[in-house]
Amino acid sequence: MALNVLLLGAQGAGKGTQAGRVAAEYGVPHISTGDMLREAVAAGTPLGERVRPIMEAGRLCPDELMIELIEERLGRGDTAEGFVLDGFPRSLAQAEALDDMLAKIGRPLTVVFELQIPEAVAVERMLGRARAEGRADDTPEAIAKRLELYRQVSEPVVERYRMTGNLVGIHAARTVNEVWAELQEALEHLAVR
Ligand code: AMP
Repeated sequence: MALNVLLLGAQGAGKGTQAGRVAAEYGVPHISTGDMLREAVAAGTPLGERVRPIMEAGRLCPDELMIELIEERLGRGDTAEGFVLDGFPRSLAQAEALDDMLAKIGRPLTVVFELQIPEAVAVERMLGRARAEGRADDTPEAIAKRLELYRQVSEPVVERYRMTGNLVGIHAARTVNEVWAELQEALEHLAVR
């Protein structure tokens, strides 16, 4: 049975780290739209040139562009046994497009995790990451913008999946290993059902 996982949560909640663990443990590709865009920026492709100023300002890239990117990525053969999506969908339009796409190819979501952390913890983590990695969008201004957009544009996505009933909330203001243990327990539980 394929394992199709969504990881939702504000920036700084630990989506990238936990998605990497799910991917390694279950042998499914980790699809991070943020990583895909950062690679395009680093390679200087037309897509990268287009999204660079948007990312640096902490804003969201256009829905059509993101939907096209994810449609192409999910169409590749390595997603046949599943995938873990990190950073998409980030708006209701993206969520609707994703649900349509998955319905069309007959691959329902197995589970949607929401990594929940208080905003103050998210800010602390992003500032720490800025010092460690020098991410161009981890300036205090960009961080504030990203969290504001998360509340306004991305929270409704969480509500959407809460309504459809496959949302599992995870208390994520803990160590990486503690969060991973909870995720894994939930995944094992799903796999045996
Ligand atoms: P992330 O690493 O997921 O925090 O993404 C870094 C940046 O890439 C975001 O702040 C946005 O500018 C852009 N981005 C990534 N994924 C999306 C998405 N699904 N929709 C819109 N913008 C995105």
